[in-house]
Parts: sequence; structure tokens; C-alpha cells
Amino acid sequence: MIVIFLGPPGAGKGTQCKFIVDTYGLKHLSSGDILRRERSEGTDLGKEAQGYMDSGKLVPDDLIVAMMMKEIAACGDLSGFVFDGFPRTIGQAKELDKAMAQAGKKIDVVLNLQVDDSLLEERVCGRRSCLKCGAAYHVKYMAPKVAEQCDNGCGKLSQRADDTAETVKNRIAAYHAQTAPLVEYYNEQGNVKSVNGNVAIDLVTTSLKSVLDEVKARIK
Ligand code: AMP
Repeated sequence: MIVIFLGPPGAGKGTQCKFIVDTYGLKHLSSGDILRRERSEGTDLGKEAQGYMDSGKLVPDDLIVAMMMKEIAACGDLSGFVFDGFPRTIGQAKELDKAMAQAGKKIDVVLNLQVDDSLLEERVCGRRSCLKCGAAYHVKYMAPKVAEQCDNGCGKLSQRADDTAETVKNRIAAYHAQTAPLVEYYNEQGNVKSVNGNVAIDLVTTSLKSVLDEVKARIK
């Protein structure tokens, strides 16, 4: 099953991807995670992406497409993926379509996680994660037992550099201007399923599960 996960920053894509990966055995390809890895390794790509990411702008398509194609090629078998944060522009979507066609594969579903703008800033700015074990938290909605400390005993939690009130405004604007048009693009291919992401995490998970179970049964 090949899944694309669309949604604004703070919609809960990362949290729900964990459930999708564990339940359906898909490989998680997050362009944001790959870029953060490139940055922490100090690669040329990481250095080039840094300014865009810190100001909440999109990294140029040519860099992202080359990075993702390399990542896809390294996976070998294209049968089970969830793309998180990619594609984010029509140009990226067209390149992904080409790669899929060349591999004789198709996107089975585009999940469109819809969340009102008014909720996004609080969701983004409250995010925390543990750099040691990867556990994810939110100061209000998934709070650790002790404030700012990982429940698994790893120590202090970390906040992403771009999870600030100022940057999130640019990221939301970039989403509306450059990524939201993808819903229409994929609608024309007939594979978009919209899910209400304004509700509690477990309710979103239930909705996503019913969509993905249906897709899984269809493509069997
Ligand atoms: P994310 O972790 O998905 O919120 O991405 C963090 C930042 O990485 C974004 O604000 C962009 O600067 C950059 N980024 C991630 N994915 C893409 C993409 N597909 N196209 C352009 N920039 C991206």
C-alpha cells in the first residue's frame, strides 16, 4: 500500500504515522525527518536547507526531489510506503507520479488531514520529543509525567528549532499557498480521503484506520 499523508504543520501527521507504520507495516518516509538528519550530519544538503527550514519556507523542489528519489531508490521494493511531508508542491507531486509510473506502481490513497488554522499554533509550539529514544510528547495533549523530561528516563526533552510561533505562521502560509493545491491535484486522480483532524488523537486514529482498512481490502 502506498499512502501520501497531507496536512498542515501541527495536524498530527507524525503522531498518526507511528500508528500507520505499526499497524500496516509500511515504511515511513518523512522529508522533514530526512532533512533534519542531513542537518545534524552537516551535509551540503543539510547546510543548504537550513535557512529555508528555520524561516518556515519550503526547501526548493530540485533539492527535495533529488533527496526523496535517492531515499526511495535506497528502499528497493516500492510496495509499502507512507510519505509524510512529501510531496508539498505540484512540481514535487508530478515528479513522484513519474517515479511511480516508471516503477509500475500507483498511489493507493492520499490522506488529507484537515485541521483548523486556529488550532495549529498551539499544537506546534507544544510539541516536544526525546532525541535519545524518539518518544513524542505535547505539553498539553500528550504530556510527559514530569514536565520537559522523557518518561523513559532519557532526560530533558527537546523542541524543534522551527516550532516557534513566528515560524509556524510562515509554515501555515506555505501550506496554504503551495501544498493545499495538491488536494485538488490528487482529487483529479480520484484517490483523496479527507479526515477530520480537529478531534482527539484516538478519534483521528479510528477514522484513519477505517479509511486504510478499506484501501487495504480493495487492493488485496
Ligand atoms: P516538517 O518536518 O515536515 O514539518 O518539515 C520541516 C521543514 O522542512 C519545512 O518547514 C520545510 O522547510 C522543510 N521541508 C520538509 N519537507 C519538505 C518538502 N517536501 N518540500 C520543501 N520543503 C520541505
